[in-house]
Amino acid sequence: MPHTVPPKMPVKTLVWFRNDLRLADNPALSAAAQIGDILPLYIFDALSRPRGAASKWALHNTLQNLMEKLPLCLIEGSAAPTLLQLCKEHSITHVFWNSSPHTQKEEQHIKNTLKAQGITPKAFATSLCPIAVVPEKTTKNTPYYKVFTPFWKATLKQLEKTPPRHPLPPPLNARYIRVKSTPLKAFNLTPTNPNWAKGFKTLWPMGEEAAQKKLQNFIEHKFTSYTNARDYPASGATSGLSPYLHFGCISPQHIYHSITKLYEQGLQQENIEKFLAELGWREFSYSLLKHNPNLHTAPFKEEFKNFSWNQNPQHLSAWQQGRTGYPLIDAGMRELWHTGWMHNRVRMVTASFLVKNLLLPWQEGEKWFWDTLIDADEANNSANWQWVAGCGADAAPYFRIFNPLTQSEKFDPKGLYIKKWVPELKNLPTQYIHAPFNAPEEALTKAGITLGHHYPLPIVDHKTTRQEALKRYKALKANI
Ligand code: FAD
Repeated sequence: MPHTVPPKMPVKTLVWFRNDLRLADNPALSAAAQIGDILPLYIFDALSRPRGAASKWALHNTLQNLMEKLPLCLIEGSAAPTLLQLCKEHSITHVFWNSSPHTQKEEQHIKNTLKAQGITPKAFATSLCPIAVVPEKTTKNTPYYKVFTPFWKATLKQLEKTPPRHPLPPPLNARYIRVKSTPLKAFNLTPTNPNWAKGFKTLWPMGEEAAQKKLQNFIEHKFTSYTNARDYPASGATSGLSPYLHFGCISPQHIYHSITKLYEQGLQQENIEKFLAELGWREFSYSLLKHNPNLHTAPFKEEFKNFSWNQNPQHLSAWQQGRTGYPLIDAGMRELWHTGWMHNRVRMVTASFLVKNLLLPWQEGEKWFWDTLIDADEANNSANWQWVAGCGADAAPYFRIFNPLTQSEKFDPKGLYIKKWVPELKNLPTQYIHAPFNAPEEALTKAGITLGHHYPLPIVDHKTTRQEALKRYKALKANI
């Protein structure tokens, strides 16, 4: 009898997509493609914090883009049982995913569950520098860095020794297993009536091609002026990569290598260092979130739990709707509403206004940004709100209170940003645009503005509320 060898069964790997919605530089996907067939899966995890409305819109469009390239299975449920069930139903032997620094506990539980059923799990590191999450030279009392500068110095040192991996190409000829999936439409991620996201699609085409174009455009047209222009909201000088980084349409490793390549041109050192440091703030925020899972609700500096906040729904909605009577604040809040994004300098000033002039809890602002930003990010949003509020790690001291008028004069000197987002002020001479309430009656009349009718009078006085904020801060300190 001829000797027959039973045919070798191909390995079947489930690739669990999370915030890594791309084919290029996707270590889990590439590794799975090398060993056999792939079942690509995205889980709408019922246990994690529900996404805000703008983020849902961006997720829908990002998934749609990914689904044009592979038969992504969509399922709602909690991760461990969903993975197990699919493995059983489709005889899957391996589960691969890209790991997030802040979900390692949950991931360990998933690994244990899968292993117990004889399935091989593997999580691939994805932060810019894995060691950056827990860099060397931390101590038992401070197991992670709480101040950005030493964190970033240690990270850069590690990156010099062990640079991040070079981006992997998208896996060619990957073989996908197609299984039954819930249709994307069934998750109701996009608004219908009213469709407030109408304009988003042109502004934010989602997916990895768009992300790579954004990066290329930034390097070619904006990078040389990044350090000098990045604080000016009318300049459009920043990369606009935040939503793409959040959904993982592009990896930080890819950005790191594209940017550090510019060192070879010799002229870009300051811009390279500044830009990498911004990516560093992102890594720092994730490190904070990893060690403080309730970062979006619990103040990092615990004493701030006792801060005496106001409760004022009218002020909160005036801030949300861009009707505070402070043009830079209103411009920022309207940019956010209309585009799902806001310039970083203006995020800082609008957040400071909520917390230190309106004296409303920073958690209210965090929630609004969470709902309206397309780049809403569990680490960056919470860490930055806490930074502005003075209660975060390495935060701006509480007593440093932004003056919305001087910020406006300094960073929007010609009022271009204000005129774009608060068009009712567009005919006001630049000298009055930052504080229309100080403009002479004649200038207002000439510009067709009646304060309180066409544009609101200021809802609070900066000087008085600043004093009040400092008084409450002193009282808090006295009670520690
Ligand atoms: P660039 O200047 O081009 O920077 C490149 C990348 O570096 C960004 O895409 C981002 O990933 C990272 N980065 C830049 N600044 C910061 C920072 N301060 N903290 C952490 N990472 C940073 N960023 C978010 O991605 N999601 C949020 O939900 C978010 N909420 C914020 C809330 C407040 C109150 C403040 C003050 C800032 C917030 N930021 C948030 C940080 C920052 O404003 C945005 O990352 C930035 O404006 C995005 O624009 P960009 O991509 O053009 O930035």
